[in-house]
Amino acid sequence: MLAPLSLELQLDLPDEEPYDVVIIGGGPAGLTAAIYAARAKLKTLVLDKHPRTSALGMTRKIENYPGIPKPISGSELLDIFRSQAIQFGAEYIQAQVTSVDLLKDPKEVISSAGTFYGHTVIIATGAMGHKPSIPGEAELIGRGVSYCAVCDAPFFAGKDVAVIGDNDEALDELEFVGKFVKSVYFISPHREPRASAQSFERAKKLPNVVWLMGTRVTAIEGNGKVTGITVEREGKRERLPVSGVFIYLVGAHPVTDFLNGQIELTPQGCIRVDPETKMTNVPGVFAVGDVTCKEIRQVVIAAAEGAVAALEAEKFLRKRAKARSDWAKTESPPNGSVPAQSKNLSSTEIVSLPSGERRWEHFALKREAASD
Ligand SMILES: Cc1cc2nc3c(=O)[nH]c(=O)nc-3n(C[C@H](O)[C@H](O)[C@H](O)COP(=O)(O)OP(=O)(O)OC[C@H]3O[C@@H](n4cnc5c(N)ncnc54)[C@H](O)[C@@H]3O)c2cc1C
Repeated sequence: MLAPLSLELQLDLPDEEPYDVVIIGGGPAGLTAAIYAARAKLKTLVLDKHPRTSALGMTRKIENYPGIPKPISGSELLDIFRSQAIQFGAEYIQAQVTSVDLLKDPKEVISSAGTFYGHTVIIATGAMGHKPSIPGEAELIGRGVSYCAVCDAPFFAGKDVAVIGDNDEALDELEFVGKFVKSVYFISPHREPRASAQSFERAKKLPNVVWLMGTRVTAIEGNGKVTGITVEREGKRERLPVSGVFIYLVGAHPVTDFLNGQIELTPQGCIRVDPETKMTNVPGVFAVGDVTCKEIRQVVIAAAEGAVAALEAEKFLRKRAKARSDWAKTESPPNGSVPAQSKNLSSTEIVSLPSGERRWEHFALKREAASD
């Protein structure tokens, strides 16, 4: 029997009021866009794969960001960006975006933390993407090879798997995977992980991890589904029978895999934008920072582009002839939803969602009315 028309329509509608702006990526470009969008009273959401996987988050020391005269670590600078965005009312959810439908309104953004809707979308996913490079990897994507533990770990309950990588994201994902599987090989190309001491200490306590540091994966094997991997350490090769491989290697490619061809790219795989407005070929969709590939890749440039895109998104939403940057005076939001100014904020305050999973945590989301 056909479903009643009203039910079909209901299923198509988002549960919550859509965001004015959904920003994909929480590096300097995405977080600056969030600062400007939230300050312009737009209902703003940042979806970020991991607070430490930005090119800036991985930078040990930065000393050329204006206004910060003493060298600080990239992750410290990123924490400041994030707190400032949240202070203006932006929401920040740690989640990996896996696909999008940008051609409808509101636009749909599917992530490991659920589906979100926005009247505009700003893509700021950077250029640290890994391209399948291990023999067997490309052929077995979705057949045992995964890049998202939150999405796929439950499929490997009680099995043996491998996690490849050595940054904070890899270690956090290891922790998540470890809860489901029988055992997990953690395989790092370096002898020491390139991650924070806290992440490493936490991961070291997991009971079912076999640590293979200074080890390379030379092949992923399987016929239709993963059955094992070959690793090489100190000239010796070994085959490990596993049914899942979670890969968190960093590369140098613009991160656009979740777009499924909906946005025009350059021949180099970068998102093509209007140089003035940062708008892509899809109206209401903007792209900023390293994902648009420029000759000079710097934090200050990514941040500046984030500001431009947010103000252009505001112009688009409110159908202005010119962008407006003076947001000291109040202005009604375009869709009637007001992001409250936040109080008592700290970027380290973590509020768990009822699911209890780390991936679903919000950072410092204590929103109170600005009036009191
Ligand atoms: C080693 C190194 C040193 C550097 N040193 C300096 C320096 O000293 N000074 C300077 O100005 N610049 C420096 N840079 C360059 C600078 O870090 C980058 O130009 C800048 O970080 C780019 O910002 P971005 O926001 O475009 O991308 P990124 O900073 O890479 O941020 C991208 C964000 O998108 C998120 N993301 C990716 N995929 C998804 C997804 N599917 N779903 C959700 N989120 C996703 C990532 O987690 C990340 O948070 C350095 C870069 C490197 C690699």
